[in-house]
Amino acid sequence: MPTLTFHTLSFALEPAALKVTLLNQFVTKIPLSDLTRIGEFQLNNAHTLEFKTSSNKKSELNDKKAELQFFGLLAKAFETLTNSINGNKAVYIHRNSGIPLIGSVEFGLVYRNSSLIEIKPVTSCNLNCIYCSVGEGKSSQKIDFVVEKDYLVEELEELLKFVAEPVEVHIGVQGEPFLYGDLLPLIEDLQRNPQITLISMDTNFTLVGKNTIEQLSRFSKLQLNISLDALDEKLAEVLAGCSYNLKHVQEMIKYAAKKGIKLLIAPVLVPGYNEKELEKIVRWVKELKMSHVAQRPLLGIQNFLNYKTGRNPDQAWDWGKFYAFISELEKKTGMDLKLSPEKFGIHKTKELPQPFIIDDVVRAVLKAPDRFPHSCLAAAKGRIISIPECDFRGEKKVKVKITRDKHNCFGGKVV
Ligand code: SF4
Repeated sequence: MPTLTFHTLSFALEPAALKVTLLNQFVTKIPLSDLTRIGEFQLNNAHTLEFKTSSNKKSELNDKKAELQFFGLLAKAFETLTNSINGNKAVYIHRNSGIPLIGSVEFGLVYRNSSLIEIKPVTSCNLNCIYCSVGEGKSSQKIDFVVEKDYLVEELEELLKFVAEPVEVHIGVQGEPFLYGDLLPLIEDLQRNPQITLISMDTNFTLVGKNTIEQLSRFSKLQLNISLDALDEKLAEVLAGCSYNLKHVQEMIKYAAKKGIKLLIAPVLVPGYNEKELEKIVRWVKELKMSHVAQRPLLGIQNFLNYKTGRNPDQAWDWGKFYAFISELEKKTGMDLKLSPEKFGIHKTKELPQPFIIDDVVRAVLKAPDRFPHSCLAAAKGRIISIPECDFRGEKKVKVKITRDKHNCFGGKVV
C-alpha cells in the first residue's frame, strides 16, 4: 500500500479537506474530493498518508504513482498557502519552484563580496516592534516566504565553493528565525561544513525554552545576537508592540550563557523611548558570566534608523549623536560597546560576477508575487529580480530593464 511520509508537512483531516501544515507555520488545504481520486486513504500519523490499493482499478497504485499524483495536488494547494501567524499569503520556495536564491534581500542568499554571507530561510515575526526596520510582525500585510532547507544548503554550498575561503554565515531573516520549522536541521548542516567558522543569528529569543537551548548548545560555531531593548517590563512591551514576556527572555539569556552558547546582546536605541534603559542593560549583561566569548563583543547597541518601509516612531539620531552617547556609556560602564566589521573579522572576498547590470534589458519569467502589493519576482540567468508595480498573473515571459544591481541583488521594471 503506497505510504507517503513527509517530515516538513503535517496533516489533519477536516470534513471536506485535508489540512496541510508546512514547517509548523504555513497552511493550506487539499479538497477530499481531489484526494480520493488518487485512492482511498488514511492518516497513519500526522506526517504519513497511506493510500489503499483497490482491486477494481486497472493499474495498480504504487508508491511512485501515488507520490506523483499527490505532489500535483500539493503544488496546486501551495498556490493558496497562508501564514498562520498573520493570515497573509505565503510563497514556498523549493528546488523545483524555479525561483533562484540569489538576487533578493528578502530570502535566500545575500553575498556582499565579504566573508559574511547572509542566509534567509523565512520571513515573518511573532512580535510587532514599533521600530522594526522591515515592518515585520503580526500586523504585517506583506506576503511571506519560506525556503526549503535542502535547497538553501545546496545553493549555499555552491556559493562557498566559489568563495573558497573560511566564512561566517549569518542567519539574518526579515523576522524571527526560530519560527522556521527546519531551523535546527539547518544549523546542523551549517555546523558540519568546515568552511563555515561561525554561524551567527539575530533573534528576539521569545520562542525558545530550555529544551531548545540545550539542543543549540551542541553547535560550537553558533553565536546568538539577541535583541533586548529595555529592562522595564512595561516599556519592553511598548517597544515589542505586543504582549512580551521580558522575564522569560532574561531567564533564557541567562540559561544560554550558562550552557556556554556565544551571545551578543543587541539592543536598539529608540530615541524618546529607551535611552535610559541602555545603561541598565549594559550593567545587566556585564554581570552575566560569558567569559568564553571574551575575544568578541558581548554587546552591540544599534542605532535606530528611519526606513521608508519600516515603522518609524521617531526621528533617528544622526551618527555623531549616537556615537557620542555610546562613548559616554562606555566611560560609565567600562564596557566595549562600539561595533565594527573589523572586530568581527569581516573582510573583502572574491567578487561574484553579476549576470546583468543597471540599464540592461533581460528576458525573465515572472515566478511569484513579491512582498509588497502590486509587486512581482522574476527569474533570469540564475538570479531573482524584484519588480514593483507589476501584478503577478502566473508565469509569464517579460522583458525587464534592470534598475538596481547592488551585490547581485536586483530590481527592475517591465518594459
Ligand atoms: S524588530 Fe525584529 S523582533 Fe521586532 S518585529 Fe522586527 S523582526 Fe520582529
